Amino acid sequence: MTLRCATSNPGKLREFTRTAERFGWQVEPVHGIPPCEEDGATFLENARKKAQYYSSRVPGLVFAEDSGLEVTALGGAPGVYSARFAGEGATDADNNRLLIERLAGTGDRSARYVAQIVLADTGRIVGEFEGHVSGLIVDEPRGANGFGYDPHFFYEPFGCTFGEAPLERKMDVSHRTRALEAMFESLNARR
Ligand code: IMP
Repeated sequence: MTLRCATSNPGKLREFTRTAERFGWQVEPVHGIPPCEEDGATFLENARKKAQYYSSRVPGLVFAEDSGLEVTALGGAPGVYSARFAGEGATDADNNRLLIERLAGTGDRSARYVAQIVLADTGRIVGEFEGHVSGLIVDEPRGANGFGYDPHFFYEPFGCTFGEAPLERKMDVSHRTRALEAMFESLNARR
């Protein structure tokens, strides 16, 4: 069984494919459609918008994902602005620098990654799934694995940052994997 997904991010696609295979599914990226604007106020709004946009343009089931980092001491920021926290065109290094700057002097370092997935069929939403993973933000970056905020995201059960953890290990516990598992469990229950 094949499911389409709307992403141009090869890292995310690898995670999608790996989890899909465990549940007996294949994932195919949607190609050749101009990108959908991500201007929602929440992960759910963005994921809904993308899922409806792409699934009304290609046949079959399509899912879209929106994800980011929520930091408690920053009132949930950067949230939906995770990719452009330091402004349009910001690099991961720019975003990480700003994150650590904003957290200077704060004692509460708790944070979580959130992933929201919305599944749609020809423009109609048929399922919504969320995944989280909690960690602590550390000042000094550690490790070169993963992407985004991973070098600053310390995951206590591993005793290291997601930047230090092997990719496969991060994928076992990631917010995206959790949301994907919920989606594939629901799809397989309907089969
Ligand atoms: P999106 O590609 O528009 O969904 O943006 C997601 C942004 O959230 C990324 O650019 C990262 O900054 C951040 N993010 C989401 N998931 C992860 C993750 O697994 N590790 C590190 N950063 C992440």
